[in-house]
Amino acid sequence: MKASLTAIGLAMLAAPLFAQVPAELPRLMPDDLFRRNIGTPEQLDKQFPPHHIIDNVYYVGTESLASFLITTPEGHILVNTDFERNVPTIKDSVEKLGFDFEDIAIIIGSHEHADHMEGDALAKELSNAEVIVMAQQVPGLSAMRPGGKEHPIDRIINDGDVIELGGERLKAHLTPGHSDGCTSWEFDVTEDGQTYKVVINCSLGVNPNYQLWNNPERPDIVEQYRRSYEKMRALKADVPLGSHPAIYRMAEKYPLIGQKPNPFIDPEGYLYEIALNEQAMTLRLEEQRKAAGE
Ligand SMILES: [Zn+2]
Repeated sequence: MKASLTAIGLAMLAAPLFAQVPAELPRLMPDDLFRRNIGTPEQLDKQFPPHHIIDNVYYVGTESLASFLITTPEGHILVNTDFERNVPTIKDSVEKLGFDFEDIAIIIGSHEHADHMEGDALAKELSNAEVIVMAQQVPGLSAMRPGGKEHPIDRIINDGDVIELGGERLKAHLTPGHSDGCTSWEFDVTEDGQTYKVVINCSLGVNPNYQLWNNPERPDIVEQYRRSYEKMRALKADVPLGSHPAIYRMAEKYPLIGQKPNPFIDPEGYLYEIALNEQAMTLRLEEQRKAAGE
């Protein structure tokens, strides 16, 4: 075990530290990005004005927890139910936009942490939607039992699978690191006759308590992150979205809604976020390696 971990460590050191990182990147650490994503305790729960993003995609989340509604003629897809206590707020946002919560036919999520998927059971109760989860999310979700409720799992999918509803096709990309089941969603939208690719970034963040160097429980955590950066970069999204609105700088774009081009079309911002997270992960890894005296 010890020998193989050392081999992994050497392989990591041989990799370039800052692959494809813009020179002007601010030096943000994982904790800076974590605080940026989570915001204040109030922001976790405070409703952000529900709004149209592009085509059939709408924002229905809070100030710091993103939820999206993708509408189709055969029912809607809800991405992220957040904490269970956020579900009434999400429902209100859906209704404020003129849609019925009961018309949600599918519930999917970013990853198996409570701030993104704890509300699945209540949201299913209120809509009768099918809850579709990535196979690697199952252990984490099964342990998530708000008020003792069992986490609903109606269908299990795998990396690369496509979910279809009412002409909408969402491709599930396993982008682990932040969690084993971290899933980024890719789909096309159209505006003014042009097709754009949306990617809902699962999160590439390193939480403050994460052990990157010599982690016996997750020996491949750094490799997971590195593979996910590559995979995400290759997707080249036009419209970046994310599990926290700060991942795609929603608060800056929101006041520009209605302008042309659509402020949510931001391919550079998509790559910038990946680079920021890669740099932060690498800095934290170096810090932990030095602290371990290696
Ligand atoms: Zn998380």
